[in-house]
Amino acid sequence: MLSGSFIELKQGLKKLPGIGEKTATRLAMYLIRMPKDEATGLGEAIIKTVSSFSNCSICNILSDVEPCIFCTDSQRDQRSLCLVEDTQDAYLIEDTNEFKGRYFVLGNLLSPMDGIGPNEINFPLLQEFLAANPVEELILALSPSVEGESTINFLVNQLQDKVDKITRLSTGLPFGGDMEYATSRTLTTALQRRYSADK
Ligand SMILES: [Zn+2]
Repeated sequence: MLSGSFIELKQGLKKLPGIGEKTATRLAMYLIRMPKDEATGLGEAIIKTVSSFSNCSICNILSDVEPCIFCTDSQRDQRSLCLVEDTQDAYLIEDTNEFKGRYFVLGNLLSPMDGIGPNEINFPLLQEFLAANPVEELILALSPSVEGESTINFLVNQLQDKVDKITRLSTGLPFGGDMEYATSRTLTTALQRRYSADK
């Protein structure tokens, strides 16, 4: 009979993406059979890393320094701001080497049915950001899903008088598809072929 802590470990692993019941059991079993120092080292690395990351108070990106490296790097193009849903999306765009400006992480996409309104997409913090750091171009790098589209409409309506140019990624991304699954090449093309978001 397996103990409560083993079950707890298994349930924790099951919360990770792509891990089902069987894999979670196999991984938990693997961990208890691993050399003790390796397994506890992994646990310590999780604790250390997770506790050192928090949201940047300026751009909301998850970072292990405050403010984040993007907000403090004067070499970055201060005239353009790329809006993304998640921290992960910012790093995907960063990997394309196509964008040299700053980022802002919304954290969510608008979804009134799920109670996600302007405050839940950090719109007040975005307004603060733009007041302190006026930009010439705002790139809305959001998934072209229903929620992404309504977020784009909302942001264009709210910000078109405050920012010269608001653009969105080209339709290289599949509708409803997550940026996470876009290849770097697709994302590069989508960035290069961005177009005006206010129609
Ligand atoms: Zn930042």
